[in-house]
Amino acid sequence: MERYNLPAHWLGRPYYSLDAWFKQEYGCKIYKIALDAGFTCPNRDGRLDSRGCIFCSVGGSGEFAARGSSIDVQLKQGLSLFGEKKTGSRFLAYFQAYTNTYGPLDYLENIYSEALSHPDIMGISIATRPDCLSLEILELLTSLKARYAPKVIWVELGLQTIHEDTACYIRRGYPLSVFTSAMTDLVNHDIPVIVHLILGLPGENEDRILQTVDYINSLSPFGVKLQLLHILKGTDLAKEYEAGKIEVFSKEAYVTLLSKCLTYLSQDIVIHRLTGDGPKDLTLAPYWSLHKREVLNSLHKYLKENHLFQGKLFVEDHSLF
Ligand code: SF4
Repeated sequence: MERYNLPAHWLGRPYYSLDAWFKQEYGCKIYKIALDAGFTCPNRDGRLDSRGCIFCSVGGSGEFAARGSSIDVQLKQGLSLFGEKKTGSRFLAYFQAYTNTYGPLDYLENIYSEALSHPDIMGISIATRPDCLSLEILELLTSLKARYAPKVIWVELGLQTIHEDTACYIRRGYPLSVFTSAMTDLVNHDIPVIVHLILGLPGENEDRILQTVDYINSLSPFGVKLQLLHILKGTDLAKEYEAGKIEVFSKEAYVTLLSKCLTYLSQDIVIHRLTGDGPKDLTLAPYWSLHKREVLNSLHKYLKENHLFQGKLFVEDHSLF
């Protein structure tokens, strides 16, 4: 049997998990508190489109957050949800719902500061679109980073795919060049980026998905979220699914593809997510995705049995794809 020495800081996992990164940096587990700061999105309010991305739920992909309460109240609720068993742990405030830089600069400064000044919060992660990151916003993030050091400020960008035809189909609303330019700006401002990629979009075969993985490698972001395409009720994607126009992965097919993506991904990129994360009452398909622990167990088993790990097939020459 082949033997490999995985990096010690991966803590025994065959990939560089966010959990391992947190333990390496902070010596403890960190939990995320999802926030809804009352934003909308240019893809929903009519500036670009009023329908949203084809897979996006009415909650703007932020169903785990509590809309309508102040940031402080949402943080308190989040902290109490984790309960006493998490004593000694720390927390990351995740601005998740809709587009979290799509608002006036003073409002952004207020809500980010409210989270960053909380004593139990070790940083914030801001989910947004690459076309909603003006120079003023980047400068605001840079100044907050200095003001609240050593707390972290991360930005999460939903790329989903590098292929323009798929981007059009999902109504992403910006070309790849906009994403590339935002990445460059964020890197120049020393702001770590987490890139979201959806596995299983209609029209995307393994080769096309690996091309996106390779493109992500070429940008060397801090992290990546590999997300299963799951279908949420009430979305236009659900209509396509119910009309029999698209299919979803079986668990086995997903684990095989996910493993392949991991083997091509650079070992320096931290894995923030490995599967879909839809709320139970909204998930239409695939139902197996609701059992996240089982999906991860299957992935670990598959990687182990096939002697696979993150970066095993990583190629530095991006022209090969
Ligand atoms: S950009 Fe995000 S919030 Fe806006 S429609 Fe797409 S998935 Fe939803």
